[in-house]
Amino acid sequence: MMLFQSADRRFGLRLDARDVKKITKLCRRAFPNETGGILIGRYNERHDLAEITGISPPPPDSHQAPTAFYRGVQGLQRCLQRLWHGKRQYYIGEWHFHPLGTPEPSGRDAAQMRDIATAKNYRCPEPVLLIVAGTAERPLDFGAYVCLESGGPLKLAAQESPT
Ligand SMILES: [Zn+2]
Repeated sequence: MMLFQSADRRFGLRLDARDVKKITKLCRRAFPNETGGILIGRYNERHDLAEITGISPPPPDSHQAPTAFYRGVQGLQRCLQRLWHGKRQYYIGEWHFHPLGTPEPSGRDAAQMRDIATAKNYRCPEPVLLIVAGTAERPLDFGAYVCLESGGPLKLAAQESPT
């Protein structure tokens, strides 16, 4: 389990070991190209923790290159509708891989997240961005950010998880 939290504790993100494993596998398979997908989940009652319940691989119309990733949209709307009606789970944000890079958002990443925050069809004013960085062999670094409509991505610090 991975837990990330903002310094003021107003926003957190929880990721199960199962989804960490899934993301790691997709990154290793894509290396040296970028890859990514969406984060699905729900918020707790106090609305200060996003609990990820699943991640998607890149949709089939995505474009992957060593320093660029365009996450496609094919099938996404239907998938999100099904999740909402069946399980009350919804779009929480994006994850993507920086091969040989650092787990920090680029200027383009920040701009894309601002677009999503203001896009009506996502209904997600504070999307999360999870960036995974590393090589095909070494353990990957995870960086988590919440993207507020008003400003740049806010970093969520990794917390020691009780085991
Ligand atoms: Zn990026």
